[in-house]
Amino acid sequence: MNNICDTIVQIKAELPERTRLIAVSKYHPAEAVRQAYEGGQRLFGENIVQELRKKQPELPNDIEWHFIGTLQTNKVKYIAPYVSMIHSVDSLKLLQEIDQAARKCNRIIDCLLEIRIAKEETKHGLTPQSCKELIEAMNPEGLQQIRLCGVMGMATFNADEKETHREFAALRHFFEELKTAYFKGNEAFKEISMGMSDDYKIAIEEGSTLVRIGTSIFGERVY
Ligand SMILES: *Cc1c(COP(=O)(O)O)cnc(C)c1O
Repeated sequence: MNNICDTIVQIKAELPERTRLIAVSKYHPAEAVRQAYEGGQRLFGENIVQELRKKQPELPNDIEWHFIGTLQTNKVKYIAPYVSMIHSVDSLKLLQEIDQAARKCNRIIDCLLEIRIAKEETKHGLTPQSCKELIEAMNPEGLQQIRLCGVMGMATFNADEKETHREFAALRHFFEELKTAYFKGNEAFKEISMGMSDDYKIAIEEGSTLVRIGTSIFGERVY
């Protein structure tokens, strides 16, 4: 066992049954992913299309790749053949693009709606209002190749614990609101993607189903 695998085992031991671990491997080499893979990890997160395109062919086929970064519509086609879930959907245009790209590869791609929960202006994502408008504007007949599976959010960077609790709780409540209003009885709509290295313990307490952890597993990123 190496350090990467040890850390993954430790983190997994802390997760409740409903929560899965995405090992965020961005800026780390394929070799680091392989070490984690050999320790049994199968879900990995990347946030740059170019980097994912380079790594994916070098690594085993049964890896579930989660795309967690800003996604430009003109780059969807590159990852559509294999991406397992896109966490960062923040417009109807992007959703339609994913749907079309998925149709061309005869796949269904799981998507999460990214919701702005942080106080920072710079954070991406939909406001709760714009999220509902997106869902209502979506013609379900027209989007058969995507599956909406839930929501994703990032808490304010370096906030105090109380604020982080508040933001994650708000995301969970919003998920529940959407579930009741639009996805009742839809078993696929079940994911709340929240929690990173510094705040995943809080996210778990607030009901996270997917934690996205990079630095704690792979070390600091060198940009
Ligand atoms: C980089 C990144 C992570 C992982 O962050 P760490 O602090 O390294 O755990 C999680 N989510 C998103 C969206 C990211 O871009």
